[in-house]
Amino acid sequence: MMNRQRLLKTFRDLLMIDSPSREEGKVSKYVANILRECGFSFRRDKGGHAFGGKCGNLVARLPATDDSLPALMFVSHMDTVVSNSGLQIVFDGKTLKSDGKTILGADDKAGVAVMCELARELSDSRIPHGPIELLFSVAEEPGLLGLKHLDFSLLNGETAFVLDSHTPVGSVVTSAPSAVRITATIFGKAAHAGVEPEKGVNSIAIASAAVAKMRLGRIDDETTANIGIINGGTATNIVPEKTIVKGEARSFSKRKLARQVAHMETQFTRCAKERGGRAEVKTDHDFTTFAIPPEEPMVQLALAAARKIRRKTSIQKSGGGSDANVLNEHGVRSVILGMGYTSPHTEKEAIPVASLYAAAEWILEIVRQSPRFFG
Ligand SMILES: [Zn+2]
Repeated sequence: MMNRQRLLKTFRDLLMIDSPSREEGKVSKYVANILRECGFSFRRDKGGHAFGGKCGNLVARLPATDDSLPALMFVSHMDTVVSNSGLQIVFDGKTLKSDGKTILGADDKAGVAVMCELARELSDSRIPHGPIELLFSVAEEPGLLGLKHLDFSLLNGETAFVLDSHTPVGSVVTSAPSAVRITATIFGKAAHAGVEPEKGVNSIAIASAAVAKMRLGRIDDETTANIGIINGGTATNIVPEKTIVKGEARSFSKRKLARQVAHMETQFTRCAKERGGRAEVKTDHDFTTFAIPPEEPMVQLALAAARKIRRKTSIQKSGGGSDANVLNEHGVRSVILGMGYTSPHTEKEAIPVASLYAAAEWILEIVRQSPRFFG
């Protein structure tokens, strides 16, 4: 049986280890100690170095008890969106949250704790299983950096469950959009604003005109776009020479995404030209869309396991990117499982302890039922 007390303790321990992105070392060590006790072999890749991280992704493996059983992979990320240093856990017996001064960090320590409990369950019990891989990623929050730099030769599995959705336990996220980041640098011409303004070209005015003409927000049922940052000018008495505008576009359709990005680029370049300035627009592919059909065995397995533990099931669409986008792009079929935490990335973040327990039961049930769906 799953050990609820042990799981709760692990979760609380993990919450208390501060691990903002690129500083996951202590969490990685804590997890590695558990894996070692449970008979897993593990390796860390050098991924972290590529983006200024002090720690790599952790890949752990438990050999099959029976080679005819399917291979499964579970994934969670060790970093939190910001530091939760000074965290005071408030637990009323039902829900865990912070005192409101920091984030809690359930995103994604809930996933990490649940995977640690799975490791212990598999080593304590005699549950037959195929090869099990556990991937603990780093720097997921700042743009899936850990997995973008993962040494994929470390992975064997082709079916992964990513334990990282704020949706309720029992919900399976089977699709997510592609995203592109856009940075426009607009060059005008500096001049004294009071003495000879006619000699200047105002880069802020160009940026404003371009953004005003842009289609933003929800573009259609598959596409969104946003301008999120604008930076420009140096003083009120100088016509601003340079302004930088940053935004993004997302879509479940690659064609619609390309069209939206082109539209945004055009507004910057056209408005700059009309006003005697110049725009340099840089676009960066952030992550790629995926859609796993609901009839696929892995989705059916996740739903059946959730029903078995009496959770309400659902299939959901994500609006954001996660490690599942990168895994799918590399041919590892991945869906995201609801962990049931609420208000992630805010000081109101919380998780009902019942969700934590249910998530652990769920993935154990996925292992138990997997032979019925693959084979
Ligand atoms: Zn997360």
